[in-house]
Amino acid sequence: MKTRGAIVRKLNSEYEIVEMDLDEPRTGEITVQMVASGLCLSDEHVASGDFPARLPICGGHEGAGIVVAVGPNTSGWEVGDHAVLSCLPGCGRCRYCATGHQNLCEMTDNILVGSRPEEPDSFRLSYQGEKVGQFCHIGTFCEYSTVSVLSAVKLPKEMPLDKACLIGCGVSTGWGATVYSAETKPGDTVIVMGCGGVGNFAIQGAAHAGALNIIAVDPLESKRDFAMRVGATHGCASIEEASELAKELTDGHGADANAITLGTLKPEHMLQALESVGKNGVVVVTALGNATDIDFKLSLFDLTLKQKRIQGSMYGAVSPSWDMLKLVNMYNGGRLKLDGVISQTYKLDEINQGYADLRSGSNVRGVILFD
Ligand SMILES: [Zn+2]
Ligand SMILES: [Zn+2]
Repeated sequence: MKTRGAIVRKLNSEYEIVEMDLDEPRTGEITVQMVASGLCLSDEHVASGDFPARLPICGGHEGAGIVVAVGPNTSGWEVGDHAVLSCLPGCGRCRYCATGHQNLCEMTDNILVGSRPEEPDSFRLSYQGEKVGQFCHIGTFCEYSTVSVLSAVKLPKEMPLDKACLIGCGVSTGWGATVYSAETKPGDTVIVMGCGGVGNFAIQGAAHAGALNIIAVDPLESKRDFAMRVGATHGCASIEEASELAKELTDGHGADANAITLGTLKPEHMLQALESVGKNGVVVVTALGNATDIDFKLSLFDLTLKQKRIQGSMYGAVSPSWDMLKLVNMYNGGRLKLDGVISQTYKLDEINQGYADLRSGSNVRGVILFD
């Protein structure tokens, strides 16, 4: 079938909207008509070349839609089912899936190639005869996408798809950063650096886990105001200010955790975050740095004597096939706030405007709504 989608054909460029050929689903696959796809910064990293993706590639890794075709002998799915696509697949059988770390599934190794998770040389999209990858195996900036069932989670029909799409990346990454990776406990003091489409879910996670003080750090007042509406107890324009405040609130000890949820991680952020946490404190890193950045400063003295931890956090350390449903149930139960997070919606053809708005800071989260 034919489908329109947004692809990157050369580095340091913008998304181009083109008409492509999409294969029918094979065994273990479904074709999804996309209803909504979030504009996450990671797709911008693909266009800029920060992520060394195989080109051409169809962007988008935060989508939800309706199943329009099911591959032969593919159990558990029917035409008409609603699905949220996970930015990482989970096979359920590898050592990571089997030990509760589905976010590290062995099938995630070629997300920048965008071929099938199970078959690295097999593609489902093509443009003028050339194979096109699907970023994170799902390429949701596309009217239709054929995906592995390992990348899809069935949704209850009452879950609105234009909100559900966010659970495929930003919600899970942020919420899991404070709940799972930081292991926030009741009474804790948590700093969240960066209050965009990931940070405000880190704030909600900290609140759900019982943090007493949640300090939102963002230079933009509008983002700090929004953070306060979703559970932050304090807002600071700089990490230095947040660090001082954390000490004031804890009799001089410092924060229990600092979740770095910035768009782009720089080496200096690591030192700032490590200085903001107290004894036994943890710095959780969800933000992505440049692949060539290998140097950052830290006090080795402090690290040992104060027993501090640095914890990388991939996709919030969630296991998508259960955690995404849990987050959907929390939304439907009124506990997770998604509605106000979508600050702007766009048509597929307006995707580059959406990214310009994200860069300028006028978006918490932009979402493409398909016709
Ligand atoms: Zn993302
Ligand atoms: Zn696995």
